[in-house]
Formats: sequence, structure tokens, C-alpha cells
Amino acid sequence: MTTETSPAARKAEKLVAVKGMNDILPASVPRTDKLPDSGLWQWFESTVRTVLGRYGYQYLLTPIVEPTALFVRGLGEVTDIVEKEMYSFTDAMNGDKLTLRPEATAGIVRAMIEHNALYNGPLRLWTIGAMFRHERPQKGRYRQFHQLDVEALGFAGPDVDAEMILVARALWRELGLVEGRDVRLEINSLGQPDERRAHREALVRYFEQHAGLLDEDSRRRLQSNPLRILDSKNPAMQAMVEAAPKLIDFLGEASLAHFDAVRAVLDAVGLAYRVNPRLVRGMDYYNLTVFEWVTDQLGAQGTVCGGGRYDGLIEQLGGKPSPAVGFGLGIERLLLLLQELKVPVPPAGPSAYAVVPPGAPLPQVVATLEALRAAGVGVQQHAGGSDGPGSMKSQFKRADASGARFALVFGADELAQGMVTVKALRDGAGAQQLRPLDDIASWASALT
Ligand code: ATP
Ligand code: MG
Repeated sequence: MTTETSPAARKAEKLVAVKGMNDILPASVPRTDKLPDSGLWQWFESTVRTVLGRYGYQYLLTPIVEPTALFVRGLGEVTDIVEKEMYSFTDAMNGDKLTLRPEATAGIVRAMIEHNALYNGPLRLWTIGAMFRHERPQKGRYRQFHQLDVEALGFAGPDVDAEMILVARALWRELGLVEGRDVRLEINSLGQPDERRAHREALVRYFEQHAGLLDEDSRRRLQSNPLRILDSKNPAMQAMVEAAPKLIDFLGEASLAHFDAVRAVLDAVGLAYRVNPRLVRGMDYYNLTVFEWVTDQLGAQGTVCGGGRYDGLIEQLGGKPSPAVGFGLGIERLLLLLQELKVPVPPAGPSAYAVVPPGAPLPQVVATLEALRAAGVGVQQHAGGSDGPGSMKSQFKRADASGARFALVFGADELAQGMVTVKALRDGAGAQQLRPLDDIASWASALT
């Protein structure tokens, strides 16, 4: 700090969120960045719970902060994430090297090893939470973002690879997205490490023969991670990259049979996909099946969900060798897609709004609302300022804005008769009926 500010000025300074990290706010808070509101968020979360329950997946939470070594060992040293995207820091208290998790799989695997969780058999798991990557913020790409992460640990067969893909499809359908139109499936097989090695050697030979066409980034990757050159978006290299040796031609019988078995399930359930031989994914830990769900609606950030098999990771992180498969879904990207496509979202607000005229007996009003809520009705009470609840007009405006389907009006005349007025705000707007305060059970269910 070089400039001197008075304590008062410092106090008034506006503090803002860290760049690339966003607030998720209710729809009633106006914002300029068009980010999805918390209503959409909650609908997504409840849909996820329903769908994953149908497939027998169990929920878990792991810490947001993990030892840096977990990601270096788990993701691979020469990956975009570990090379340049991690939020790593030293714990000032004890010198531990820590990292804000950039993805969820490594932490889940760490937890399962730590708790000997696979001892009693395989596990199907899911979690939702914040991930952190130091990237250039843009639409669909943030420094704090959220993922749904689904993992099946201890299963070796192609059946669970197919199940992963179908879990995602079930989610699209439940959310009102149409697969093949709004989101498309791309799959590939990365084979086994020895097959990848043979392919890699052939690739390096090929790229060396075409060294004159490689850009600087690619030349650097030639020795460290030649597979990533296939990922290059440089138009000048496209034709050369297109003609490079394909991994699929290096796969042995077992790998091909695994891939064919996954495809046979997808074919049988009528799920269309494209085999994309250039789909390699960003982490080193993948083998055999990899897949991505992509959309054309979000510009450059078109991948909403990506995953695959990672049979070597558990052993690599110190556990007993066990196969595994999983996927990560970018929640912000998916919700942006739902917004873009104007997918109808079920209303989330209260079903009734209580209009409280000035002078209404508050204890009686509150007792009625409590009885309604106990009967399962969502009721929002109008609450005023120090000068009272405000005019009827302004209260009805609030009632409309709340999204409620009914207004409850606690007027003096109806209260005198032991009644409250129930007024329809939407369907059949304006229609109203008097309801008895001493027999709430007889009319509460009509408001839910
Ligand atoms: P990309 O190629 O877009 O950088 P990725 O391969 O790095 O994606 P994964 O590590 O596979 O992404 O993460 C799974 C999903 O998480 C992605 O498909 C995407 O939807 C989402 N995601 C990844 N990084 C971000 C980010 N910085 N901001 C928002 N969502 C992200
Ligand atoms: Mg990335």
C-alpha cells in the first residue's frame, strides 16, 4: 500500500468478487451478466437427485482444498490444469502445499482409498461442488465454476461405461433437452497404456516428418505430450493433423471388444453418437472409453459434459488396483444452455402471498400462515417497514412479483366473519373466495 486512505474512506470502498468468480442470485435480483439464477440452479440440483437416485448412485462430499501432490500425481504433470490452471498456495500456518480442487475425481479417489471404501465391493457415487481453474474468464468459462461429478468405482465392464452415458441422457431428458439436437454425444476409445505408447511413437515419428508445419506450442509438446498436438486449433496444421496415425488402428482385440460392447448398448437404446478419433480429453488418467456431450449453442465453450474410464488412477494414487469410470458436467454451461434454448422451468416461488392490510391483527395472521405452512402450503408473508405494511396496491404488486398463484387477503371485514379471502393471481385471475380460519384443513390442499 503506497497511498494513504483515511479509515472512513477505506470503509466505504466497494469490495467486489474475485475476477472469474460469480454470485448465484435469485431471479429477482437484476444483473447484467445474464448468468443463470438460483431458481434454475435449484431445479437442476433436484433433477440430478431424482435421476441419480433412479440409477442407484450415492451422494458424497469431499473437501475443496486438497494436497497439491494429489492433483500433480493424479492429473499428470504435463496437463493444462497442472501446468497453468491450479490455485495452489502454501498454508502459512504449517507450510503445507495445498490446492483448490480443479476437478472432483482425484479427491473422490483419494477419499475412497483413505477409507478403504472399495473393500466391500464397487461403488456408484456423485457429488456437486465448486471447482477452481485459473483460466481467462469468458462466457461459459470461469475461475470458480461448479460441476456435477458422477463416478463408478470398482467396475471393469463396458456396461457401466454405457450406464454413465445413459445417466447423462436421462438428465437431459428430465431437463427438457433433446439429445442429438440440443446436445450431441461424441465417443472414442483411448485403449490401454501399451497401445497408446505404440501410437504415441508412431505419432512422434509422423510429426517429426512434418516438423516444418508445427507451430511453436506443438513443437514444445512433441516430446512432452504429442497427443495434445491432435487437439490443436491452428488452421494451418489441420490437414496435417487430420492425416496423423489414429489410435484406433493401434488398439488390440480386448480394447476393441470393450469399445464395441459400449457401442452395442448405445445402439440398442437408440442413442446416436459420433465416434471422434481425435477426442483425447485433458487429463492423463483416462483409458478405453472417453466421451463428451457437446452443444453448438454456446460458442467456443461447447462441451457441457465429459468423462471416461480411468482404470489406472486408483493404483496411481496408492490404492489397490481397481477400475473406474466417471464424468464431470459443467453446471454453469448446462444452465446457460437451458437459458439459451428457453427450456421451461417449473415455478419455484411460494404458492400464496399474504396481503396484510394496515391494522390487521398480526398474531391472528401469523397463526393462520403457520397452520397453512404446517399443512404443506408455501406462503410468503408481506412484511413492512417501521411505518407499517404499506398500501394494498404496493402489496399486490409484491404478490405478483413473488410468482405466487394466490393472494391471501386478511381484510378487517372478512376477519370479523372468521374468514380470509383467497384471490387467484394467475389462472382465472381475480376470482376470489372466502375461506374459514377455523377449518384450514378443508381448503389448504387447494393452494399447494
Ligand atoms: P474445456 O476443454 O472446455 O476447457 P475441460 O476438458 O477442461 O473443458 P473437464 O476437465 O473435462 O473440462 O471438466 C468437465 C466439464 O466442466 C467441462 O466439460 C465443462 O463443461 C466444465 N468446465 C471445465 N472448465 C470450466 C471452466 N473454467 N468454467 C466453467 N466450466 C468449466
Ligand atoms: Mg479446460
